Amino acid sequence: MSAQIIDGKAISETIRAEVKAEVEEMKAKYGKVPGLATVLVGERKDSQTYVRSKKKACAEVGIASFGHDLPADISQEELLQIVRDLNANPEVHGILVQLPLPPHIDEEEILGAISIEKDVDGFHPLNIGRLSMKRREPLFVPCTPRGCIELLDRMHIPIEGKEAVVLGRSNIVGLPVAMLLLHRNATVTICHSRTRDLPAVVRRADILVAAVGRPEMVRGDWVKPGAAVIDVGINAVPDPSKPGGHRLVGDVAFDEVKEVAGFITPVPGGVGPMTIAMLLRNTVDGAKRFYGIQ
Ligand code: NDP
Repeated sequence: MSAQIIDGKAISETIRAEVKAEVEEMKAKYGKVPGLATVLVGERKDSQTYVRSKKKACAEVGIASFGHDLPADISQEELLQIVRDLNANPEVHGILVQLPLPPHIDEEEILGAISIEKDVDGFHPLNIGRLSMKRREPLFVPCTPRGCIELLDRMHIPIEGKEAVVLGRSNIVGLPVAMLLLHRNATVTICHSRTRDLPAVVRRADILVAAVGRPEMVRGDWVKPGAAVIDVGINAVPDPSKPGGHRLVGDVAFDEVKEVAGFITPVPGGVGPMTIAMLLRNTVDGAKRFYGIQ
């Protein structure tokens, strides 16, 4: 039997509509508008595209955006000062520093300088630390991992007591998603490049989150029948039949795995659209906390 497709695009649109309604209510009842500051250093085309789409998404739901497009040769101190100014700006409730930063910038120091009350990316060491500790709540959870859990929740897929396997242990996806699954009382196994007999470990999963960046690595016979498969991977593979000469695939061999799994996210249209939706969600959550609105 074929798996139920988890339509991340549709779910993200629902979330954006919910966020938009909350923003309108904040404005009407309290005269307050949530604000997101984006900090872009340098002229990387991919980073420019990401920041542009984040600003556009903000505009669509009524969040004010404050763009800082900075030269690639900005000094550490100047960049730190911009972050400090944004920390002090009461109209800004979320600060997003687009990564990667140029090599001469100490990324850890910059991310650590963002006020944890405005850390909408959830990468501040304090927020990550709280995410990793029992009975501690981070103020913000990183957007892509939060999006993965939201997809499970919106599909009513139970997490508690389930075997969850996370492929990948990066700071931005694998590790935080594993911590979130642990917080929700799954039994979590984290796999990485040194894991032995990966197929056997993956086969234990009721919930599988793949975030390795290896095109179609997870095969049909790695997956437990009925499992929920969340594919975070975004990989461009050559395809001369496509206009750009390539197409996007996930870390999961979709056609094979959908015949075995109970639920599966497609690529594109699965986790991808959830990241920006969760950024908007985090920004509004931050603004409500700032203004003391329930
Ligand atoms: P990283 O490269 O930072 O991490 C990859 C992880 O996968 C590492 O922990 C690595 O192990 C592990 N890994 C690599 N190869 C193997 C292998 N053969 N077997 C087992 N484990 C392996 O990637 P990211 O976490 O940043 O991103 C992962 C994927 O998710 C990418 O395709 C990326 O494009 C996508 N992505 C999608 C987002 C979205 O949908 N919005 C957002 C962010 C990322 P080790 O630690 O041992 O090196």
